Amino acid sequence: MNHSADVLVIGAGVTGAAIAYGLTKKNKKVVLIDAPPNPIDRSSRANMGLIWCQSKALGNRPYAEWNFESSKLFPELIPEIEELTGIDTMYKQCGGIIPTVGEADYDRRANYLKALDEEAKKFGATKDYPGEMYSRSQLEAHYPGVTFGKEVTGGTWCPEDGHIEPLQLMFALRLAMKRNGGTFLPHCAALDIARNGDSYTVHTSTGTIECERLVITAGLGSKQLANQFGINVPIYANKSQLFLTERIPNLLPTPLLGITRTDGGTVMVGFEHEYMGNNTELVPERLQHVANWAHTIWPAIAKLRVIRCWTGLRVWPKDGFPIYDAIPNHKNAFIFNAHSGVTLAAVQAKHLPEFILGGKLPKNAQGFGLDRFPADA
Ligand SMILES: Cc1cc2nc3c(=O)[nH]c(=O)nc-3n(C[C@H](O)[C@H](O)[C@H](O)COP(=O)(O)OP(=O)(O)OC[C@H]3O[C@@H](n4cnc5c(N)ncnc54)[C@H](O)[C@@H]3O)c2cc1C
Repeated sequence: MNHSADVLVIGAGVTGAAIAYGLTKKNKKVVLIDAPPNPIDRSSRANMGLIWCQSKALGNRPYAEWNFESSKLFPELIPEIEELTGIDTMYKQCGGIIPTVGEADYDRRANYLKALDEEAKKFGATKDYPGEMYSRSQLEAHYPGVTFGKEVTGGTWCPEDGHIEPLQLMFALRLAMKRNGGTFLPHCAALDIARNGDSYTVHTSTGTIECERLVITAGLGSKQLANQFGINVPIYANKSQLFLTERIPNLLPTPLLGITRTDGGTVMVGFEHEYMGNNTELVPERLQHVANWAHTIWPAIAKLRVIRCWTGLRVWPKDGFPIYDAIPNHKNAFIFNAHSGVTLAAVQAKHLPEFILGGKLPKNAQGFGLDRFPADA
């Protein structure tokens, strides 16, 4: 079946769904399409659901602020989409903690936090950086039901971090977009993009879509679509292997980075970053490494049954920061790729639609253009 749209959004992971939702709030006729599921383009289905701002991006203050801004926007976004859809995203701003192992790790984290605070103040922050070191006894007081491993020295605490059920978030954004009058076409892959002046005809696996503006939010699949415009988008697959345990009572009210209890009671464990192309193979030795680390933090985790393991490929721009840009020589075609797409969902839903419709990116996002990469990146 054929469609027409003011804006066609290609890729309905959390990034595309958030942007499409934001566009419908601006009364645009939006079509959001998503290719049939495949093992590569499933970052939004494989993640931890952390809304994570702390200890990020020393040396790139705008990116750090962009994350904190997004965290602050969740209390605005979530009631809107939950009311429109009836979906409970299980959002909570519960803070987050990065546990430290050994004295050197504690000192390294403390120095990093101090440097972030100094940098924030250099950029005009009037308050202290929203994070602090927790001693081991503070950590124990925070998690009275957990006996930490003997090497655990404490951690970094940030009250602005949070957690959400990531699938519920993605489904709620897609449905909220539909409730606002948008069209969502699952199992619809963009195959070929043809330009007609300033608008586009996109041939998909299920029909043709005519659109005034085109937005590529296809995760790792964006690279291939961008090639059709003759540009190289420097994004790479960043692999992580995770496992999920049986349900437990709420011993972990705040996520520990790498060990997060879901609202359903299971515990999700994973932290690794590997660059292996689109390799999604589960490697038991790597999973064991992850499990050993978790055991160092919380020895009792060894008693829990593992009920599922999986691999997730992060969508990783070469320098780790988002890519928000119009495609060169195409004022109505855009590309958006970012790691931390869950954390950034709120800020992306709010501000990227304005940019797509002809406005400017907010100051904190203006450094995320394609021109920062060399041509052969
Ligand atoms: C293990 C892991 C843990 C993570 N933990 C967190 C976390 O705790 N917090 C956080 O903020 N972030 C986390 N992330 C990152 C976050 O999941 C991603 O940044 C986010 O999901 C990226 O979303 P996306 O929509 O850009 O990409 P994707 O989720 O990859 O979605 C892209 C979509 O585009 C579709 N597509 C591709 N090609 C086409 C085409 N030609 N036509 C139509 N559709 C197409 C695909 O089917 C897919 O649905 C994690 C990621 C991983 C892998």
